[in-house]
Amino acid sequence: MANTFIMIKPDGVKRAIIGELISRFEEKGYRLIAAKMVTITNELADQHYQEHRNKEYYPGLKEYITSGPVFAMVWAGEDIVEQSRILIGATDPAQAKVGTIRADFGTDKRRNVIHSSDSLENARREINLFFSAL
Ligand code: GDP
Ligand code: MG
Repeated sequence: MANTFIMIKPDGVKRAIIGELISRFEEKGYRLIAAKMVTITNELADQHYQEHRNKEYYPGLKEYITSGPVFAMVWAGEDIVEQSRILIGATDPAQAKVGTIRADFGTDKRRNVIHSSDSLENARREINLFFSAL
């Protein structure tokens, strides 16, 4: 059993699909441990996306991720880090497999609706960043 950090990005919150996205994880048998609406500050964006700060797309990514509230969550389940990456689909919605969240709801490579930690180590780091009491 593991925990992971999943976040509905500002485009997902604006489109009012939080409930629908939560259902996708509940239907898979995963358990919601914690959740909150957060507006990401510039500092939190730099910390969360520390590996991306030197990328050419980072200014656009930072503007997008701070543009409105996100819905931050901790989920638990068997192999949830790997499995949730499969459920959300590839970074670019145009490349994401049919039936994945990004294929169904994503707009483009930046506005791809949802984030999910890519490793156990990053899951721990991101959970601590957003839910320091956990
Ligand atoms: P993820 O783990 O699938 O979310 O993808 P990455 O860790 O590679 O990138 C983090 C986030 O940065 C993505 O979810 C996108 O929102 C954004 N992003 C990544 N690569 C690109 C890119 O090439 N162009 C743009 N515009 N945004 C990107
Ligand atoms: Mg990533």
